[in-house]
Amino acid sequence: MIVTRFAPSPNGSLHLGHAYSAIRAHDLARQAHGRFLLRIEDIDGARSKAELAGEFRADLHWLGLEWEEVAPQSSRIAAYEAAAARLRDMGLLYPCACTRSEIAEAATATGPDGPVYPGTCRGAAIDTDRPVAWRLDVRAALEQTGPLTWLDELAGEQQARPDLAGDVVLIRKDASTPASYHLAATLDDAADGVTLVTRGRDLFAATHIHCLIQALLELPVPHWHHHALLLDSGGRKLAKRRGSPSLADRRLAGEDGHALADALRRGELPAGIVLDEGLHIHA
Ligand code: GLU
Repeated sequence: MIVTRFAPSPNGSLHLGHAYSAIRAHDLARQAHGRFLLRIEDIDGARSKAELAGEFRADLHWLGLEWEEVAPQSSRIAAYEAAAARLRDMGLLYPCACTRSEIAEAATATGPDGPVYPGTCRGAAIDTDRPVAWRLDVRAALEQTGPLTWLDELAGEQQARPDLAGDVVLIRKDASTPASYHLAATLDDAADGVTLVTRGRDLFAATHIHCLIQALLELPVPHWHHHALLLDSGGRKLAKRRGSPSLADRRLAGEDGHALADALRRGELPAGIVLDEGLHIHA
């Protein structure tokens, strides 16, 4: 059975790009008589706004989608901590006290998430009584798993290259956001039984890391469907601050959500919006 999901973060209102992604995941599940899940990714305690979850449901309903909602990330913290403890016991996590600016200064490479962490704290004696992040020792992890591959339905089989992102953070320094996106989303997709992870190509490179985490924690391995992104005419991701109205703005202005969803399905985009078919693939 195909299980897809839409996993928005309630940090800001949804826009057309989210609608496109949700419709994609919904339709892929429906065409296969599968399940379509909604998961609220409210792991970021400082940025999450509780009221947005209700707005998101109203937006999806307006688009004519039906879904099963699963537990939000804020209720799954114990599972993230247990997984991190297991990786720590395997000797694959190390504490890091570096600040963002120290990393930017020391980095010599740029990866999919920005400056690649140069491994400053790997093997160093770091005082864990003060706030520290816990990083995955990617090289040591790959030695345990051996080479990995993963399958994108659109782009085909991929050789996993988690090394390109460097030693990513799995447990964050900031106590209001205990687990990183990489750890939380990977564990949740496994816990929710997701078989086809559907999301935009901007997250293509993240999958290299997710597939390593899956191998280390012996999680089931889904397939992926990284779809093209909707961009504004300047080639930038849609954002309200750049004049792209949110779904809630459109809904409250009385626009027909079902008609909008059908237009997106046909690839008919509102003026000034383009579908970027270019590959944002770091590998
Ligand atoms: N929560 C992420 C976002 O809103 C999506 C994560 C995912 O689909 O894996 O960008």
